[in-house]
Amino acid sequence: MKPKKKSDQERRIILGVETSCDDTSICLLEFNGTPKILSLNSYNQDFLLSKWGGVVPELAARSHVKAIPPLLEVCFREAQIGPDDVTEVAVTTHPGLMGSLLTGINLAKTFAMIKELPIVPVNHLFAHLEAIHLTEKVSYPYLGLLVSGGHTAFWWVKGPNEMEVLGTTLDDAAGEAFDKGGKLLGVGYPAGKIIDELAKDGNNKKYDFPISYLRDRPGKMSYSGLKTALRVKLAKMSKEEIQENLHDLCASYQEAIVQTLRVKAEEIIEKILQLKVRDFETPIVIGGGVACNSRLKTIMQERFKNVHVVNPLYCTDNAGMVANWASRVPELAVSFPECLGLDAQSRFVEKK
Ligand code: ADP
Ligand code: MG
Repeated sequence: MKPKKKSDQERRIILGVETSCDDTSICLLEFNGTPKILSLNSYNQDFLLSKWGGVVPELAARSHVKAIPPLLEVCFREAQIGPDDVTEVAVTTHPGLMGSLLTGINLAKTFAMIKELPIVPVNHLFAHLEAIHLTEKVSYPYLGLLVSGGHTAFWWVKGPNEMEVLGTTLDDAAGEAFDKGGKLLGVGYPAGKIIDELAKDGNNKKYDFPISYLRDRPGKMSYSGLKTALRVKLAKMSKEEIQENLHDLCASYQEAIVQTLRVKAEEIIEKILQLKVRDFETPIVIGGGVACNSRLKTIMQERFKNVHVVNPLYCTDNAGMVANWASRVPELAVSFPECLGLDAQSRFVEKK
């Protein structure tokens, strides 16, 4: 066999698989020093899940099984490469819904078994933040704000796999606050994007929604009171009144979610990192589905100096961020056949 050229050895082709919750996503990414997405295709279950007003784990897992084969086929066709070109597989192994994660892991293992390839087990949360590198150069350390449907947390990020939690929500995530609020407002699911759009023509000062400062618990956030405040407010309004004021309600409710994140970012910088906000030039990276929110981007960029928001293409769950994260941590690749023993983990367990 001819020895491989150096350039061939450095060129990695990563098959990325994301099925941690309700999005099925496959990606082929080429890594040659920098990441390049060759193809990325996702199947979104929003249509199916809007009927239930949220994620139904059993339905989500079954839907992944159906969505994977066509997505794989389209990805290889678009990337104009074949399965033999793939050098490794990357799959979200944690955290997420067990049934959903296992579907993706089984695909990864099947592919790895046929082609005798290593698998990189991917931390979904880290992948969300590190997706920033798909479009921008950001140096470490940075302050990461992960805002998604299932998580809301601030991290001190020293490297792709070196993240320390600085603060989290005690109850609902920011995305959940959008989705549950949207359900009360009757605007559809998932509600984040819809509320964002409706809020653009609304007055964000019309209604007073509470911000949970939790001043004695720096970095800690809470959104359950906000949701209750919306429920109480809506109960006092007629259907017509709600419809007439829908834009203002959305803008005011969204403002409370977003301002909470701004307040907590300030608090973390001042109380936990013991730095002055005005001197804080460390990059702040915002990732996860709620990072698509236009008001959040505006508020954070107005208040802080060095804010980077993940490109909306890679904010909600997608395999591009999964393959990208794997490209940054080659040391975590589990070689074949040991990789066939990889398992899913529903919760994220922080490194000791
Ligand atoms: P998870 O990984 O927890 O499933 P994602 O990262 O896929 O979550 O993000 C989905 C969440 O992002 C949903 O809660 C959705 O409402 C929210 N979202 C998407 N776009 C926007 C937006 N423009 N504004 C606010 N929230 C948004
Ligand atoms: Mg996610």
